[in-house]
Amino acid sequence: MITYGKEQATQIPCGLFILEGVNSRGLPTLRMWQPKASKPFAAYYYPTEEAKQKALNNAIRSMELHEQRKQARKLERKGQKTRTSVIKSALRKKFSEYQFSVTKGTGTACGWIHVDVDAPRTAFCFCKIDQPYCSQCRERSNMIHSEVYKEVVDSLAKENMSLSHYCSDDGYGTERSELLIHISFPKLS
Ligand SMILES: [Zn+2]
Repeated sequence: MITYGKEQATQIPCGLFILEGVNSRGLPTLRMWQPKASKPFAAYYYPTEEAKQKALNNAIRSMELHEQRKQARKLERKGQKTRTSVIKSALRKKFSEYQFSVTKGTGTACGWIHVDVDAPRTAFCFCKIDQPYCSQCRERSNMIHSEVYKEVVDSLAKENMSLSHYCSDDGYGTERSELLIHISFPKLS
């Protein structure tokens, strides 16, 4: 088994492990490890002490940058999660008679928000089959759609957030919201 000497290395505040030394020609050496790695990402000797110090400073700097980016991504993810959670809690509060599922798209569709609504049927429903819905159910579905849409927009506005938009290909480039609301009624048994 090859040992790289990490057990003798010292961990510095940025998280890197370093091991300084002198080689057989009397030149300064430096080995550096990522926090969890057993193999060093750098194991070199330098012509001068200054050159070694410079290499160490560069490694520390890039470690700090990496950490900053990690933190920024974390905050960003938190922000996206908040948009769906803001909508979810607003809808549940406003329409306690419905069941909601609020999710966001992934990858290139990550701006899209999907709201699935499970609502009870109206007493005036005269559906004979599950789909398509009768005119009473369609009317009720349209009504729920606009109520939910309004609440989604209002709840985001209160938090200084908004829906994403895309240009539709209707020939006018009309802006549309990246929001999909799907309403379901219970299956007929
Ligand atoms: Zn119906």
